[in-house]
Amino acid sequence: MKVINKTNWQTSDLKKIFIKCCKTKLDSWKYLKVEVTYSASRWIHGKANFGGGFHGRGNVKIFLPRNPIDKKYIDGRYIEPRPYAYLNFKQVLAWVFIHELFHVLNKHHREMTNGYYAHWRFYAANPEKMSWVNDLLLRKKEVKEKPKVDLQTKRYEHVLAALKIKKTQLKRLQNQIKKWTQKRKYYESVLMANGKIKKENAK
Ligand SMILES: [Zn+2]
Repeated sequence: MKVINKTNWQTSDLKKIFIKCCKTKLDSWKYLKVEVTYSASRWIHGKANFGGGFHGRGNVKIFLPRNPIDKKYIDGRYIEPRPYAYLNFKQVLAWVFIHELFHVLNKHHREMTNGYYAHWRFYAANPEKMSWVNDLLLRKKEVKEKPKVDLQTKRYEHVLAALKIKKTQLKRLQNQIKKWTQKRKYYESVLMANGKIKKENAK
């Protein structure tokens, strides 16, 4: 299973939930591609291509709300009880995912157990049927905050580093001058001894 996760939920936690769902419906989920993104919806919904088969050769898309599921809104708006309003977040996630697996198995809504609405009514009335997912974790990604560096301290450290470099360079130049001065003195004494330069030409 390949999970492409663009949400703040931990990918490994999502994957564990998805795999547990797959175990209820598929023989293999090795080739299943699952994309998880955010949507503007107030609950979780999904999309899947039909006919991936028992080997799960399919694509499933799961859309998550950024905020908690708005149960009151859902319950007030729709006449048919929607499981979204009765299950907790993880349960809805698993429930929607399994629903999409039905599509992967080439089932259309009319073919689902006693039809779509009866399916909804059942889970709305029996939320404990999805309680098996409660044992699994669903955590948010850890956001590592960078420690804030004081800008003046940072600049001061930069000045210290620059000074250190310049002092090293100066020391090196001083050593070189010393070395060349010694050489100069040597040649002057030799050349003066040979009469090739006069004393006033020497430095
Ligand atoms: Zn559907």
